[in-house]
Amino acid sequence: MIIADNIYKSYTYGKQKIEVLHGINLKINKGEFVTLTGPSGSGKSTLLNLLAGIDVPDSGSIIIEGKELSKMNSDERTKWRKENIGYIPQFFYLVPFLTVIENVEIMAKLAKINNSKEASLEALEKVGLKDKAKRYPSELSGGEIQRVAIARAIVHNPKIIIADEPTAFLDIKNKQNIVEILLKIWNEGKTVILATHDAFLAKKRIVELVDGKIVGERYA
Ligand code: ADP
Ligand code: MG
Repeated sequence: MIIADNIYKSYTYGKQKIEVLHGINLKINKGEFVTLTGPSGSGKSTLLNLLAGIDVPDSGSIIIEGKELSKMNSDERTKWRKENIGYIPQFFYLVPFLTVIENVEIMAKLAKINNSKEASLEALEKVGLKDKAKRYPSELSGGEIQRVAIARAIVHNPKIIIADEPTAFLDIKNKQNIVEILLKIWNEGKTVILATHDAFLAKKRIVELVDGKIVGERYA
């Protein structure tokens, strides 16, 4: 279970302090698929970064499977993240001089898993890109690049997949394809948290964020 308990988060920008999250309370059960929606600037990425242990809240706690992330130091959090989180960012960059499979293997090696090559091929198969393993990024479409991002996020078999607007720059067909892949991964028993502001992509449990507060929830 993931528990965000009364989370506050601000950024300091020059002399200005920007309050972004104001008292977020959220519980996510193991194996849930949660869509986080809300307008741009509402704090979706900020919240996902806290849930992924990339950043820490000003106050409040994030507790994941009994572990309180804000009580870990940054090295401990990094290690925990490598073992437990698959993160799919909004802006994804592949290393241009490495092949598709080598780009996935980077993460496999960082997470120190055995058989990084086999695991990378298996991850590519799950996103339908096994046949393009030896291509270079310049030979891929935008949708395929995002699928490599998913392969890289799942290669180390993390329990929790966090996707921050992974479909933002894709056409409708590719957007739907990415969400279908995430649903397939969810079906294999993962917890998936997806941020999107495309209403038609919101699936399962939908949590709406406005101005750093959760304003509602529904199921679709
Ligand atoms: P969303 O993902 O919903 O678009 P974000 O979490 O990215 O929202 O941003 C929420 C607010 O926090 C915005 O006003 C944004 O400008 C601000 N913000 C985000 N990251 C930073 C940062 N590193 N420094 C300063 N302000 C930030
Ligand atoms: Mg964002």
